[in-house]
Amino acid sequence: MNDFQQEAELLKLSFQQMYLQKGRDQEPHRELHAANLLESESEWCTRRYVLMNLYPGEVQKPELKSWDWKREAYFATGWVYHEKWQSLFRLYGNVVLSDDNRLPELDLTHFLPGENLYFSPDAIIQFGNEKYLVEIKGINHDEYVGHPDLYEWDESKVNGYRLVKKERKGIVNATLEEAMKLSQTVYKAVIQANNYLYFTDLQKAILLIENKNNQDFHVYVMERDEELFKPYEFRVDEINGNTYMVKNHGLKMLSDRVCHSPQDKLAQQCPMRDLCFSERLEEVKG
Ligand code: SF4
Repeated sequence: MNDFQQEAELLKLSFQQMYLQKGRDQEPHRELHAANLLESESEWCTRRYVLMNLYPGEVQKPELKSWDWKREAYFATGWVYHEKWQSLFRLYGNVVLSDDNRLPELDLTHFLPGENLYFSPDAIIQFGNEKYLVEIKGINHDEYVGHPDLYEWDESKVNGYRLVKKERKGIVNATLEEAMKLSQTVYKAVIQANNYLYFTDLQKAILLIENKNNQDFHVYVMERDEELFKPYEFRVDEINGNTYMVKNHGLKMLSDRVCHSPQDKLAQQCPMRDLCFSERLEEVKG
């Protein structure tokens, strides 16, 4: 490695450190946000949010590992897509104003007191007579356009090649139902937009999916779907129901742990881990 390469390596490390610093500087959420509801079944823990409701002062930031710079970079890039579209809507679109008519509905944070839940739609715009909730996502090129069949050289075959990977359709040629199966990003966008439609009492949403490689974008329109909303509504009810039970009948009512030890992968990323495994809770649970 020559001097320039070494210098470049050091610089790269220092840039990664900047991402980590950025991550460390961010204040952790001390309350339930709608994005938390999207956690997978294996990562969902009601107890985490009940503890957060009861002990917001005990929320801790899980320690960032050296490789977590990449996750920070991923979030920062996603944020750039959002800002780009929001600025375009602000300048040239018909953005709906907040209930008090003071602010455009561009990443505005809303609070639902009954549900004790925060959420921030990417945008709410008007087009014709209809108000649309907008959900913005960037997506990888392969997922966007699909990829062709992949063949591998195989001597035993007459023509020498065999199919090793079957062609995958891109979301750009798919219906929304198909795209939800082709792409986890689209699937999550649908769930998020659908939840927001119920929280805002709107009927229709736009999914704006941008190809990260070439800025082509695809638009889907969807209507709200009650069946899709139910499991997430249930999670909110479960958190609030259990918070109520603990407040009124004590910590013995606290919902059970899903982690077996503080070293579990899920626990290591949990902002309530120390409290969750502390003796204070153990004693009460008996
Ligand atoms: S440490 Fe695990 S069980 Fe405890 S609150 Fe966090 S996620 Fe839930």
